[in-house]
Formats: sequence, structure tokens, C-alpha cells
Amino acid sequence: EVNKRLKEIDSNRTEFVSIVAHQLRTPLAGIKWTLDMLINGDIGEMTLEQKAQLMKILDTNERIIRFVTDLLSISRIESGRLEYKFTPVNLNQIAESVLLDIYPISNKKQITVNFRAKGISIPEVAADTDKIMAVFQNVLENAVKYCPVGGHVTLDIRNKGSEIQVSVADDGPGIPKDEQKNIFKRFYRAPSAVKMQSEGSGLGLYLAKAIVEGHGGKIWFESEANRGSTFYFTVPIPKK
Ligand code: ADP
Repeated sequence: EVNKRLKEIDSNRTEFVSIVAHQLRTPLAGIKWTLDMLINGDIGEMTLEQKAQLMKILDTNERIIRFVTDLLSISRIESGRLEYKFTPVNLNQIAESVLLDIYPISNKKQITVNFRAKGISIPEVAADTDKIMAVFQNVLENAVKYCPVGGHVTLDIRNKGSEIQVSVADDGPGIPKDEQKNIFKRFYRAPSAVKMQSEGSGLGLYLAKAIVEGHGGKIWFESEANRGSTFYFTVPIPKK
């Protein structure tokens, strides 16, 4: 009886998160739309200073949109409603496009991003493009986010025969041993990370793990305090 009740509470909570996230999506999209118009000068020319301030609001708005999207994905995962559309995907191409996306942040922090497998041919995997892209985004963004200014990030993609293995290594602060067991937990942010980087929801790696496992792969990391971190994930190569 207690178990039944707990399940009910849990499912109500998931549904509540889903409703809130859905309700926030439309107004946030409206704000984005209006800000875009203002910045483009569609309503009247803006001074550079005004544009710069609006860009900051746009940035914050984007962050909220991403958080709300993550919340929606989580409520879908927890209610078993996260659906995958598998198509043949080249992970090297996905990596290239995500690297372009994060370039503004890595460039701003003068972080050298080395893509070892650039241009190397690898077999396609069966993947949901948007979802696997989000995994690359989360892991690469974390590497860049937690790296100090002038740090180094290395992305590698290898054909391991039965699977493709992606690795993202950084020379950032690393993850202390006692915090490692919690890293993939929902909303978890290591105290050491919160101190240096105030932004983050603690949802990225939880989602990444669910998505990688939804593809039949694994995700893990190796890290030591002050000696950087390497995150790995695999996606199986379909048998011919
Ligand atoms: P967040 O939004 O906090 O980045 P994530 O789920 O992506 O959430 O990561 C969870 C926690 O794992 C982070 O708060 C941080 O403590 C730790 N972490 C993730 N990636 C790294 C990294 N490359 N270097 C150091 N710590 C990391």
C-alpha cells in the first residue's frame, strides 16, 4: 500500500514538472522572438549599448529555455515517454557541428580544443541525432565550462570494432574522489564545482547517461582532483 502511494506521488511529481515546463515554453519562446526583433532593429534602430544589454537578456533567456527543455526530457524519461528516432548517423559529423556551437565559449576562455579524429572515417551508428547531439554538447560544454582560462580539451572518436567510443579530456580541476559517485545523479553538482562555476543545473550528465543507455551504450569518466577529467561514452555499431 505504501509502495503504491509512493509511486503515485512520484508520478504526480513527474506530471507536475512536465506541466510547468510546458507552460513556460510558450512565453519563453515569445520573449526570444521579441528580443530577436529588437536586436535586429525591426522595431527601430538600437544603439550598440542597448543591443549589448539585450543580447545579455537573450543569453539568459536561452539558458532558461535549455533548462526547461532538460526538465521536459527528464519528465519524459521518468514516465517512460522519451522516444527515440533512430537513423544512420556519423558521430564525427555530429562532433564537428557541436564543436562549432561551443566555439564562442571556448574561444572566449582561450581554451584549445583539439579534435583528434577530425576527418577520419568511421562506421555509422543508429542514433537519434538531436539526442546524441545533446550528449556531445553536455560533455563538451562541461569540459570547457570547468576548465580554467587557457586550458586544453581533447575530443577523440575511435572505432572499437563493436562500438564507437567518444572521449572528452580536459585539464580542468578534476572531480574529487568522494564526489565521484554522485556525478550522474539528477540535480547533483559537486560542491567544488559550484564554488568555481555558479551556472549549471546538475541535469546534463543525468540526461546524457539516460540517452547513451537508450542507445545501448555506456558512459563513465576517469578523474582525479587537480588532474583533469576524461569522460567516455560508447554507441554500438549495428551488426551487418
Ligand atoms: P552542471 O549543470 O552542474 O554542469 P552536469 O550534470 O553536467 O551538471 O554535471 C554534474 C557535475 O559533474 C557538475 O556540477 C560538476 O561537479 C561535475 N563535472 C561534470 N563535468 C566535469 C568536468 N569536465 N570537470 C570537473 N567536474 C565536472
